[in-house]
Amino acid sequence: MLSQCRTNGFWTTRKRASMEFITDKKFKRTCPCCNIRSEKGETVEHLLIGCPRWKEERERYIGDIIRDTMAMGPVEQKDVVILLLGGESNGRRLVSWLPSSSTTSEAITCGAFQVARFLQCIRSDRAAILREIPHKGRSVD
Ligand SMILES: [Zn+2]
Repeated sequence: MLSQCRTNGFWTTRKRASMEFITDKKFKRTCPCCNIRSEKGETVEHLLIGCPRWKEERERYIGDIIRDTMAMGPVEQKDVVILLLGGESNGRRLVSWLPSSSTTSEAITCGAFQVARFLQCIRSDRAAILREIPHKGRSVD
């Protein structure tokens, strides 16, 4: 899921609805996990930092990293997502995103693993929610 998010290959509900794999058009603008209607519905950004359904999991796995990105100075939400996914924004990166080769304990707490753990943690609950929505063709997950 992490690499799919990084390469824009992640099947958000918005993307599924836009490609008409989900026939109910409301899901272009409504996140099925929190039922909040917004301009873009469920995007990677919403999933990672916005969706209230995953608040607990987010805090447990990536709360500190999100606060670290906020501490870098004024950052927009989309830049927080770029940094969380290991990218560079305005010349800034999260220093501890990649696992260090020297110690295993650092590897366990590096940003990449924490984001991957968060995504892994919400995966089955999210898939169960998506299975409740009628799809055509492509299967969920
Ligand atoms: Zn949501």
